[in-house]
Amino acid sequence: LSELVEEARLSARALLDYGDGLFNPTVRLGVTGLSRAGKTVFITALVHGLTRGGRFPVFESLATGRIAKARLAPQPDDAVPRFAYEEHLRTLIDDRSWPNSTTDISELRLVIDYQRASGADRKLTLDIVDYPGEWLLDLPLLGKSYEEWSAESLALSRQGPRATLAAAFHAHLATLDPNAPENEQATLIAARLFTDYLRACRDERFAMSLLPPGRFLMPGNLAGSPALTFAPLDVASDGSAPDGSLWAMMKRRYEAYKDVVVRPFFRDHFSRLDRQIVLVDALSAFNAGPEALHDLEAALAGILDCFRIGRSTILSTLFRPRVDRILFAATKADHLHHLSHDRLEDVLRRTVTKAVSRSELAGASVDVVAIAAVRATKEALVQRGRDKLPSILGTPAAGEVANGETFDGETEVATFPGDLPTDLDGLFEGGSFRGLSTDAADKTDYRFLRFRPPLLTRGGGEEPALPHIRLDRALQFLIGDRLQ
Ligand code: GDP
Repeated sequence: LSELVEEARLSARALLDYGDGLFNPTVRLGVTGLSRAGKTVFITALVHGLTRGGRFPVFESLATGRIAKARLAPQPDDAVPRFAYEEHLRTLIDDRSWPNSTTDISELRLVIDYQRASGADRKLTLDIVDYPGEWLLDLPLLGKSYEEWSAESLALSRQGPRATLAAAFHAHLATLDPNAPENEQATLIAARLFTDYLRACRDERFAMSLLPPGRFLMPGNLAGSPALTFAPLDVASDGSAPDGSLWAMMKRRYEAYKDVVVRPFFRDHFSRLDRQIVLVDALSAFNAGPEALHDLEAALAGILDCFRIGRSTILSTLFRPRVDRILFAATKADHLHHLSHDRLEDVLRRTVTKAVSRSELAGASVDVVAIAAVRATKEALVQRGRDKLPSILGTPAAGEVANGETFDGETEVATFPGDLPTDLDGLFEGGSFRGLSTDAADKTDYRFLRFRPPLLTRGGGEEPALPHIRLDRALQFLIGDRLQ
């Protein structure tokens, strides 16, 4: 019965959304990506560009002057935090620092006044929904019992480099008897060590991406609640938990996690999106090695799976996605010379194509782009011996270290970013993998430097445009057709 009520409620809301959409055309744009992929920076730059007339030659409606005005408006969902646009912008422009990253869902509404290609004046409402990509990786949990999830995540934690990272958790696990009476302290420790292990996997050196349960790393406002305090146990996947046991307690909390965390997110937010951009920090994965690349590929496949929930599954009535365009964007392309931007796209396309074919995605079009939402570097040719080498100029953030030198946050340096390998097979197939190749003439390894946001010069009191790479192309794909 509760499922029927739920379904009626959802149909009613879908109808309301639809009715609203008829009089007031709205696009709900989801912005997601794993932690540190660049969501906050992307949204801030996008809103700034739209409201302050950014330089977007490929975004046709703006470039041809058909967009008269874009302005912020109060958002429709009362229970969702507002995206702190003004604060993030101030940090980016006035402090020349990067804003605080996404840790929870947030939303922002933009109203765009534009002229149709035919000449008529129209309005498009753009609701931007920012949420951690980690949350999407939770979807498969809905179809898994506690025992199945335990078996899978323990098997994973015993493989390759993960085993070392999970050592402390494994040691604690060995002291736990699933059939012993429930024990809050042992559970707290297990959850903490399991979370530490997940976090270690996210460490830059490994940059692994496939880490459900997503909320353990991105708890939002649920940190510390019982629904987030459990861990896998060594239990038989067809066994049953004795009453009052540790096993039964973990199992109950795992089910609570699905009920109060996973389902509501998919039902209330995900299923209402129309367009989706998935930001990917592909460069970090390349630099971390083939293991991280394979993880990233698996994570992207997992994310794509969320968009293809078939009409025939039990999940379909609750979460049938209506997204019809998905853009995968490799971020921070300003760490590479522009000669490598297309190659970065190729690498991401290859990763995504594999994932698309695996998930038999139907009904949505998928594209790939390499972007820098805020371009922190400039390009130059720098003399090296007899050669002039293509390099990038940027100001490393204070405290960044390269080659024994600690930067003060004010000094601009020229770096030779290295090329993405042309041999993509080599990139994916372990063995010869070396990450980005740097020029042998330059021993300084600047590849991991974090640059400060660019210094902008204000002319005549007007707010300057933020420099970017291909942000306009991303916008054209995501909403260009809705502004025709
Ligand atoms: P989120 O966790 O997805 O919200 O990620 P953020 O938007 O906070 O970005 C994480 C970090 O990546 C930032 O603090 C910056 O250091 C870096 N970053 C994000 N976007 C860009 C970009 O366009 N260019 C450069 N150079 N760095 C970026």
